[in-house]
Amino acid sequence: MCARAGSGRTTVAHYATGWRHVEEVKILCRSERGRFGRRIAALTALACLVSGNSAFAASIAVDIGHYLAKPGVISARGVPEFEYNRTLAIEIAQALEQARHRARLIGEDGMANDLGRRAPRANGMDLLISVHHDSVQPRFISTWEFEGMEHKYSDRFSGFSLFVSRANPQVERSLHCASAIGAALRRAGFTPSRYHADPVLGENRPFADEENGVHYFDNLAVLRTASVPALLFEAGVIVHRDEELRMRDPAVRARIASGILEAVASCIGNSPEKSAMQSMNAKDAKDAKEEEMGMMEAPRWCSITANARATATRRA
Ligand SMILES: [Zn+2]
Repeated sequence: MCARAGSGRTTVAHYATGWRHVEEVKILCRSERGRFGRRIAALTALACLVSGNSAFAASIAVDIGHYLAKPGVISARGVPEFEYNRTLAIEIAQALEQARHRARLIGEDGMANDLGRRAPRANGMDLLISVHHDSVQPRFISTWEFEGMEHKYSDRFSGFSLFVSRANPQVERSLHCASAIGAALRRAGFTPSRYHADPVLGENRPFADEENGVHYFDNLAVLRTASVPALLFEAGVIVHRDEELRMRDPAVRARIASGILEAVASCIGNSPEKSAMQSMNAKDAKDAKEEEMGMMEAPRWCSITANARATATRRA
């Protein structure tokens, strides 16, 4: 809808060669500013309300999974996972900053090919979240034709997954935050994929918290080498044709970012302010503030995201 209104060039065809279209980002931002802005503003207001305007702030490192030279999974429409990871990670970071937390992006330039140098960049932060998008085992992959080209896909599994490593020195806090994110996403209407735990269909990754879609994956490098609590977040299965479209929807990504923001508020620290944040009825407070903040300007991340993508496109 937004693309048609703004430019005939911004069609789905552009995704087949990667996420290159800055114009589309601007159009989507104009369209989504009202709804997303109100939601983030409400969460910001919630944080201020609970903290009494004191310095409630978490510091979150947001790692962008993969890099340009090895961009991860290729989606059902031929888009590298890295493009999805970068888009979502930037939006999560901006949502955190809008709520007055501190966010540090890792790997945003697409050049972070040394995995061992990622986790140290999170030193001193409260939490490291590595953002990814998922695939399935090769034997479930089929082929289809999209925009005149053959692509691989599987519609068998969908949903989010979360992973923590028992080799991380702060595994309990990692799991606490992973569970909080899974719970927040479930409240927002998302469903855990859970298939990673299956010994036949998945990779036999044991559940750490089945209800909230959290698994143990001890040898994941970025989690194992982190000194701070760390988790890996698979936002959705992009070889699934419908789920890939959902991951492209700015409103869906805004709900994911809001869920992570809500979870971060509840899982980090144990100060009275933070405990109050965990226990209060977030929905009531959000609804009350949403009306009040409805006239706020669009969040700054719209233009920032577009600029970041333009820069990345030039580098690529
Ligand atoms: Zn990945």
